[in-house]
Amino acid sequence: MRETYAELLEHTRTIQDLAAISALLSWDQEVNLPPRGVASRARHKAALAALVHEKICDPLLGELLTALAGADLSREISPAAAANVRELKRDRDRAVKIPRNLIRELAEAGSLAQQAWAQAKARNDWELFAPHLERLVDLKQREAEAVGYEDEPYDALLDEYEPGARAAQLDRLFAELKVSLVPLLDRLRAASRQPDDALLRQHFASEAQDAFGREVLRDMGLDFAAARLDRSLHPFTEGIAIQDVRITTRYVEDNLGTGLFADLHEGGHALYELGLPLEHEGEPVASAVSLGIHESQSRLWENCIGRSREFWQHYLPRLREFFPGRFDKIGAEELYRAANVVRPSLIRIEADEVTYNLHIVLRMELERGLLRKEIRVAEIPGLWRDKVRLLLGLEVPGPAAGPLQDIHWSFGVFGYFPTYTLGNLYAAQFFARAREDLGNLPALVAAGDFAPLLGWLREKIHRRGSLLPAGELCREVTGSPLSCRPFVEYLENKFEEIYEL
Ligand code: ZN
Repeated sequence: MRETYAELLEHTRTIQDLAAISALLSWDQEVNLPPRGVASRARHKAALAALVHEKICDPLLGELLTALAGADLSREISPAAAANVRELKRDRDRAVKIPRNLIRELAEAGSLAQQAWAQAKARNDWELFAPHLERLVDLKQREAEAVGYEDEPYDALLDEYEPGARAAQLDRLFAELKVSLVPLLDRLRAASRQPDDALLRQHFASEAQDAFGREVLRDMGLDFAAARLDRSLHPFTEGIAIQDVRITTRYVEDNLGTGLFADLHEGGHALYELGLPLEHEGEPVASAVSLGIHESQSRLWENCIGRSREFWQHYLPRLREFFPGRFDKIGAEELYRAANVVRPSLIRIEADEVTYNLHIVLRMELERGLLRKEIRVAEIPGLWRDKVRLLLGLEVPGPAAGPLQDIHWSFGVFGYFPTYTLGNLYAAQFFARAREDLGNLPALVAAGDFAPLLGWLREKIHRRGSLLPAGELCREVTGSPLSCRPFVEYLENKFEEIYEL
């Protein structure tokens, strides 16, 4: 059995190497690629994707997995071996079910749709994008049918990003969230004392923002010998290898928060990638267990730490040095309140902690309706308007600030949005547990000592990689299954105090 397993690992490493090369090409595309190189880059990436698909569908891999099926690998080899086989089997089962021509059609439709989406967004014209979305929804329905599902097609797509998650389960979580968040938002909007974020909207030179951001990232524990920070239009993290993690950010000179919170967010993603078990590099067990868990790491640093009172207490003296004259007469308390203004926005990526998940609820409701054929593409702008009015109390002026704002659908990515909310929920639940376990976390943050928190995250989450499925990991770390309660309590405690309710 050990020989079979060794052969399986060898095959896997090749797949992971190809995936790493593909990740490097993606990073390069966003950071360095000259505009005329886009078409050839798309071809190179498609060639690699086809190779990866071929390797996963290789009958030899199927035979090796069959030979290992039924064995108690956890006992006979190691828990990591059991996780590797579980993850490989999941990937392969999915890949072999999707016909090769459907993969090609999706890739082609996606690249056409992306171009159309960019134009449609720039011209604020839904009709330019609608036929492409219709085509993509049709192809994704075919993909869901090919992959198979128990309850509804959305599950088949969601499972790719959040293994094991089901729409019905998310429905219950999201309904509970909506019931808590909408009234909280109403109370915050009606509060007589409203915090003001003008002091974060002064002029901040981007070089100074870059230097400050790097200091914060180093304080968090990011090792720049194993990571890079660059700039791109939309911040993101790409893990090429466990000791080669790339993050990007974006600085806006009239808003300190844009870049700083992006640094913290991507820094959280990077710390997760850097903390995966190095001794298993190249194996599925040494990769992130789900997008929801990945997002929990970014949100924990961005919000639970970066938007905490103690964070601003610690960094105020440094901010005065990096940005002379900007914060001389300002106290940490004002900064803390400025970093926590709740203001419904039409744009998801500009949303605060309270309203963010309402944007996700809206998207998931529409995606599910489209996949179930209950909603037609032509109805999306109208439904979007209604839902934004209901959830956020805002009027949508046009599709660019509505359903055209996000790039996801133009890639044919459906079922991805809910992982953002799962990340927020996991983050709050992990953070509550870390506070209990560490005892004096606020005092540590106030002292700028993040090492105990990073140590806790490393031991409980990062080092575990994909050893346990996300739901089990959550139960093991926190003692309870995923719930909305810790998140809602965190928000209520924090914002009732800030808004003096
Ligand atoms: Zn993220």
